[in-house]
Amino acid sequence: MSDVKLWDFHGGIHPPEHKALSNRTPIQPAPLPARLILPLGQHIGAPAQPIVAVGERVLKGQTIAAASGRVSVPLHAPTSGTVSFIGPQPYPHVSGMLAPAIVIDSDGLDAWAPLAPCADYRGLAPEVLLEKIRQAGISGLGGAGFPTAVKLAARPQGKIHTLIINGAECEPYITADDRLMRERAAELVAGIEILAWLIQPEQVLIGIEDNKPEAIAALQAALGERPFGLRVLPTKYPSGGEKQLVELLTGQQVPSGGLPTDVGMLCQNVGTCVAIHDAVLQGRPLVSRIVTLTGEALARPMNVEALLGTPIGELLAFAGLDEARMDRLIMGGPMMGFTLPSLEAPLIKTGNCLLAPTRSELPPPPPPLPCIRCGACADACPASLLPQQLHFFALGQEHEQLRAHNLFDCIECGACAYVCPSSLPLVQYYRAAKAEIRELEQKQHKAEHSRRRFELRQERLRKAEEQKEAERQARAEQAARAKALQTESAALPDRTAPLAAQPSLAAGLLEQQKKLRIEASMAQIALKKAEKQLAAHATPELEAQVAELRAAVEAAKKALEAVTAAAPPAVPASNDAALKKAKIELAIKRTELKKAEKAGADDAELTCLREALASAERALHAAEEASDKPAPQLIRTDKRPVDEKLRTLKTELAFARADLRKLERDEAADPPALESARTRLAEAERKLAEHQSE
Ligand code: SF4
Ligand code: SF4
Repeated sequence: MSDVKLWDFHGGIHPPEHKALSNRTPIQPAPLPARLILPLGQHIGAPAQPIVAVGERVLKGQTIAAASGRVSVPLHAPTSGTVSFIGPQPYPHVSGMLAPAIVIDSDGLDAWAPLAPCADYRGLAPEVLLEKIRQAGISGLGGAGFPTAVKLAARPQGKIHTLIINGAECEPYITADDRLMRERAAELVAGIEILAWLIQPEQVLIGIEDNKPEAIAALQAALGERPFGLRVLPTKYPSGGEKQLVELLTGQQVPSGGLPTDVGMLCQNVGTCVAIHDAVLQGRPLVSRIVTLTGEALARPMNVEALLGTPIGELLAFAGLDEARMDRLIMGGPMMGFTLPSLEAPLIKTGNCLLAPTRSELPPPPPPLPCIRCGACADACPASLLPQQLHFFALGQEHEQLRAHNLFDCIECGACAYVCPSSLPLVQYYRAAKAEIRELEQKQHKAEHSRRRFELRQERLRKAEEQKEAERQARAEQAARAKALQTESAALPDRTAPLAAQPSLAAGLLEQQKKLRIEASMAQIALKKAEKQLAAHATPELEAQVAELRAAVEAAKKALEAVTAAAPPAVPASNDAALKKAKIELAIKRTELKKAEKAGADDAELTCLREALASAERALHAAEEASDKPAPQLIRTDKRPVDEKLRTLKTELAFARADLRKLERDEAADPPALESARTRLAEAERKLAEHQSE
């Protein structure tokens, strides 16, 4: 182990460790709380979706919220009890914000739901094993909280050749992994074996800082002859950063903006490995975690295994919190942790430490001074960044420069701020700048999306407008053609040219013929009326009017004759439109005549209308002959005027017949009545026969 080559990473610092405060006692079980608050978002990715209702009883380990996407994990009840509330609850965040959560009132029984352990995981298909890990709700327990199954399944650059187990635990004060490795080394090794089976790497490397000799010894013993490389690292902060650990163990640098998987390596925290062991071999989902309770404001600093959802105040009370001595409460370590505004928030999956320092133990930083460009921050930066430059760009909100100087490679380790003689809160600037850039990116993404939607809409509208315009033009052209036809037909036809060769002219003639016929009819009707008036009251004015009307009738007749002579039968064979018009014209004339007959019009008017009907019939016949469609079989019915007497006789016959049948069906019918009915029927038949023979 000692002769194994180790590399180093740039920068790093050696802050006071303060680990001895909490690592001397074994992990204690935290008391079962009466009420647990389970935020739906305890991991990176989409929050879980509740699948239980208020009032529902749940068992320990039962799924209470399902994963809601690929990058998401389910949530399980940490103890048995009743769901008492689903909604906003305190969340462990620097802002003191509320977040959606499921609240469970414990029944004190801590009764487990049925579990499905799997001793022979080697018999499972990799995807089944991955699904088991996913369904157990495991996300990285080292602090980042990325869904473990997603991390295990994502191999963008091909095979993972090196599995790295992170037991560095480099942050001051935190000893949760230290105690875990000491006390649960066998489970840890079993968890690593599961991962190795799943990933099939060429090598497994375990990195532990040399300030944890007991953990190293325990792990060595548990490893036995297994071919896993245990590497003891010199204590330096932040050797537990993924990229730094990769470099320490393999000498390879993860490229800027990249992940260890980009160079064929995958990192997993020791706590996550134990959770995988519990999930696969014992069937237990993630419902608790080991958390360091430390700081001089606690009477009994220690590590506890606490149920997720346990209120932080209760955990600290268990460790003997003296609130009067506590200067502030930090979730995480002093380097990367954040201050919690209250004790009401619950423990979540990413909570590895609760630090309750006194003021003298962790005094607040002095007021910041201007940067003196000493360069100490750049020397300390493990990501080889230029923190002072990033600071200036962040102040000026120069996002492009921040990107160009690889702001997003900053792991927010705080090493730069730790060494800064001007006490500049550098990490706060970087966090704020990252948030700003992400927000802007989201806005730009939304704006881009909206722009694309707007452009697509404009394109759709433009096409619709073009279509409308094309239709308008087509209609205008059609109208112009029709007008041209009318103009052509107004002129007399060229008698020397066969009309079959001039279909448009023939159609025009038919149209003109129709108009003239109507005009002639109207003139005739007007003449008849005037003649009647003249007969009743002979005046010079009426005489003049009659003479005028006669001349008009004559002129109309002549014009009609001229056009009729020029038109059919030489109507073009293909003129179906003319045929259709002729049919319609005939129907109109027939209707006009019927209406006039019903209305009791005088003879002169009826004569005119009958002539017009006859003319329409002739025009139709001509059009039929000219059409290339076969002429319909004409069945002419001679509709005589209704014979009122015949109708009366037939009615009487029908009534007489019906009455007789009715009596015949009636068994109790009076015989004289029957006889009378028969006589009536015979008489009706006789009269009808007589009338029909007349
Ligand atoms: S350590 Fe502080 S003062 Fe020195 S260069 Fe960096 S930011 Fe400026
Ligand atoms: S916080 Fe960022 S910039 Fe500062 S030392 Fe760490 S990685 Fe470098």
